[in-house]
Amino acid sequence: MDKSKLVKLFSNMCCSNCRHDFDEDSILIKRQEKNLMVLQIVCSECGKSFGLAFLGLGSVEVKEDDRPLEFQDCPLPITYDDVLDAHHFIDKLEKDWNKFIPDELKNNF
Ligand SMILES: [Zn+2]
Repeated sequence: MDKSKLVKLFSNMCCSNCRHDFDEDSILIKRQEKNLMVLQIVCSECGKSFGLAFLGLGSVEVKEDDRPLEFQDCPLPITYDDVLDAHHFIDKLEKDWNKFIPDELKNNF
């Protein structure tokens, strides 16, 4: 794997500790198998280390026109009210609640 191409994936990101950009020397390929690639990203400024795994990929193809990785907006954290709502919802379910679970999923329980 050409690490200079991997750097492009991280060009939108920086160290969360010191805001230093990542470069080719920051990326260490720790493990590369058929369906798994594990990277360690080490900040060259402060030494903070980050782990990253690509599951389902043995390597990462990076083309010239590919865009770098970006963080997505995440849903809000679960609140106490969410837990209470779930509790009330489960409490109101009838005894035959499992009729709503598709048959193909019932074997997984
Ligand atoms: Zn840093």
